[in-house]
Amino acid sequence: MALETSIEFLKGIGTERAKLIRNVLGISTVEDLLTFYPIRYIDKSKIHKIGNIAKDTETDIQLKGKITDIQEVVYEKGKRLSAKFRDETGTMDLVWFRYTNWMKEAIPLNQEIFIFGKVNFFNGNFSMPHPEIEVDEKKALQGTLLPVYPGSEKLTKRGITNKLFQTVIFNLLKDLPNLIQENLPDYLMKSMKLIGRLNSFYFIHFPKDLKQFDEANRRLKFEEAFFFQLGYGLKKLHQKTKSFGNPFPIVGEYFTNFYENNLPFELTNAQKRVLKEIRIDMKRSTQMNRLLQGDVGSGKTMVALLTMLIAMDNGFQSCLMAPTEILAQQHFNSIKELLQNTNINVRLLTGSSKTAERKIIHEELENGQLSILIGTHALLEDKVKFQNLGLAIIDEQHRFGVAQRAKLWAKNNIPPHILVMTATPIPRTLAMSFYSDLDVSVIDEMPVGRKPIITAHRREKDRLSVYNFCREEIEKGRQIYFVYPLIEESETLDYKNLMEGLESVMNFFKSYNVTMVHGRMKPAEKDANMQYFASGQAQIMVATTVIEVGVNVPNASVMVIESSERFGLSQLHQLRGRVGRGAEQSYCILMTGDKLSKESRTRIKTMVATTDGFKISEVDMELRGPGDILGTQQSGVVDFKKLSLIEDSAIIKASKLAVEKILEQDALLTRPDNQMMKQYYIKQYKGKNKWSQIS
Ligand code: ADP
Ligand code: MG
Repeated sequence: MALETSIEFLKGIGTERAKLIRNVLGISTVEDLLTFYPIRYIDKSKIHKIGNIAKDTETDIQLKGKITDIQEVVYEKGKRLSAKFRDETGTMDLVWFRYTNWMKEAIPLNQEIFIFGKVNFFNGNFSMPHPEIEVDEKKALQGTLLPVYPGSEKLTKRGITNKLFQTVIFNLLKDLPNLIQENLPDYLMKSMKLIGRLNSFYFIHFPKDLKQFDEANRRLKFEEAFFFQLGYGLKKLHQKTKSFGNPFPIVGEYFTNFYENNLPFELTNAQKRVLKEIRIDMKRSTQMNRLLQGDVGSGKTMVALLTMLIAMDNGFQSCLMAPTEILAQQHFNSIKELLQNTNINVRLLTGSSKTAERKIIHEELENGQLSILIGTHALLEDKVKFQNLGLAIIDEQHRFGVAQRAKLWAKNNIPPHILVMTATPIPRTLAMSFYSDLDVSVIDEMPVGRKPIITAHRREKDRLSVYNFCREEIEKGRQIYFVYPLIEESETLDYKNLMEGLESVMNFFKSYNVTMVHGRMKPAEKDANMQYFASGQAQIMVATTVIEVGVNVPNASVMVIESSERFGLSQLHQLRGRVGRGAEQSYCILMTGDKLSKESRTRIKTMVATTDGFKISEVDMELRGPGDILGTQQSGVVDFKKLSLIEDSAIIKASKLAVEKILEQDALLTRPDNQMMKQYYIKQYKGKNKWSQIS
């Protein structure tokens, strides 16, 4: 037998059952079965006493005693079988709702027996429905915990019961030393206090006690985390040695002059730290690949600008790519304004740039007169050729695919340094593992003087008071957003809601100017309306989520999100980030219908409770799972059997450190004591990871 052996050849399974098990559980080989881990355990190692049962007992328990009385109770809708069970400490009822005459006859009376099952506590009495009965003490008392495997009714009906899995896996374990080899080096197991691989399989399926289970569980989790990190570690090494970059050795006039004379505020410590990290990266002659995470409003734009000035000081051009036209325009405006006292040449390129402007841009890029180009994915067009692109910054990373990132690389012979900025914080554990190929910098501090946004949940019946509140804010000189969902599948209906919303707002706020942006508008109209709001001429902006990303109007202090139960958490967080950008107290009002699903309620509650983007993203990950957050193509990457990205951050961190240490000392894994690990990695992961070219 080998790990690849099909389970149809195992005793008790056969062709038919194997097919069913494969279809329902995705298990087809011996290896799959060995890593088919129990979801819980049955404890038949102890005998409980009726007098000592805790009322909230959830697990199945075993008792020893006698059945003294059996009765069939007939009532309107059917009948049931009811028995009295007694031990030296008390009595309880046993109940059967489904039974046959044969079963009834077979129940042993007035004889020492063992019963096993779940207890219910009702009206001051314990009862046990459908207990398992055993008369043989040897069979009743098991030395180990018994595994319960994930199953389904469909399987049980065809005789594929938990008992069958127990038996088949128990038999497999007898052969385990021939099937399983250690895959972690001795020194690592010692330092991490991990049990051996063989034992971890014995113990995870049939642990003697909880301690054994814990040991096995920890070892298996560590193993998963470790090989995952090893894959990324190797990939990173590979990239570092492969992709040359232009070293930026100096900080010169452009940077220093701006920093000393034009900086409108003191940088936060987090901004300074991140800049330093970027500086160190760009000094090297390898390409920088850095992810800059910073919550909405944390000041990433300034970091981007200062980084571009360093590129200029070293004689290179930079570009900044944003996912939407509005956002590109905003970056352009704010950077242009920041640079107004300098002679630095900055231009904007988007889908709607005029031919004449494009021509100038193309020319100036190629002759080197243009230092900074800002734009949308129009930057990726083949016609856009740089003289010497040294730095590419990508804002709002989750909207661009990896392929697009790669296209930017190719814009220069020696690939430019890459800085990816995202305002959608992904949980630290996930960033740490998933983005191991990028280095991660975090701006974890807000500029001083910001007041945390106050968030409230309101329903339709509160609409009048919400409107009145908004009016008070407008009278104080503030501006208001009303945002409506616009989700593609039901676009027409959403569009209607948006228009009705606009009408309702215009009716109530008659004496103020109301403007609107949505995805169906022409870019020029969108820009004009946005401008009308940004300049303060309009007090109210009615919009769809096109304003989600990056829009910056510091005077806006209230964000009303309509039908907010329909938005995802990260979207709500992004939307809320459109306010709270100035010195005034800001508010976010989440309007919902009366009926909320459990999940929407969690989302709304989370939003009301915290403004911390990292906390929000952690809840988001719990609700949706990591696969969804990273996008479906990538979900396979984080498909762990035992490891949880939410609960096991300590293990993930430890495994990452372990991998770093090993690769530091033995980058090619040639040391004899690393061979088992290397062989396992090659066998297990080759082909899955393109970068595993290490053999
Ligand atoms: P985001 O990280 O969301 O892109 P921005 O770069 O748009 O944030 O910055 C949000 C606002 O905070 C801008 O108005 C910017 O000028 C301001 N800002 C950035 N850094 C600082 C700072 N260190 N002190 C004060 N204000 C800052
Ligand atoms: Mg931004």
